[in-house]
Amino acid sequence: MSASKTIGIFISEESIQKRVKEIALEINRDYQNKEIVLVCVLNGSFIFCADLIRQIKLPVQVEMVSLSSYEGTQSSGEVCFRLDVKQSLVGKHVIIIEDIVDTGLTISFLLKHMSLKNLASLKLCSLLLKRARLQIPITIDYLGFDIEDNFVIGYGLDFDGRFRELPYIGVYGE
Ligand code: 5GP
Repeated sequence: MSASKTIGIFISEESIQKRVKEIALEINRDYQNKEIVLVCVLNGSFIFCADLIRQIKLPVQVEMVSLSSYEGTQSSGEVCFRLDVKQSLVGKHVIIIEDIVDTGLTISFLLKHMSLKNLASLKLCSLLLKRARLQIPITIDYLGFDIEDNFVIGYGLDFDGRFRELPYIGVYGE
């Protein structure tokens, strides 16, 4: 980190943990008597997904996917797969677990891809949404926080590979 940059706490650890529990309660209620598969979008969602799954009281599996994403603080605009799921998801109830929806381009690509897999159902869970930045309409079934257009880090989110370990969400360079 450059000496001139500071990190302001934007969403506290307590607020995140409270919201994660609330989302898990909703999922537990919505999928009663069903098995679910969480599709964790690497790398940014790994901490959110790990906390969420430990609050899920249903039979649950996890799959990892990796898509191209930001370099630095600018969107590359390109989306492609680096890693796809390892099992057939045909007939499964799938919830995509995303860290943040910004322009919506990444998640739109993944939703389209998943919708071709003959799933029993498909929903989207995102910890964060920058509503003002959306370029395409995206329905988020489970949303943690609707935030302003700041570049955020922590709780899995990085800046050039760093700061994922922070237990809170911070604004970089405030
Ligand atoms: P989108 O395709 O919606 O524009 O971007 C989604 C991806 O961009 C996220 O999964 C995340 O990797 C990255 N991203 C977007 N906004 C931020 C941000 O404020 N902070 C960080 N660390 N990554 C972001």
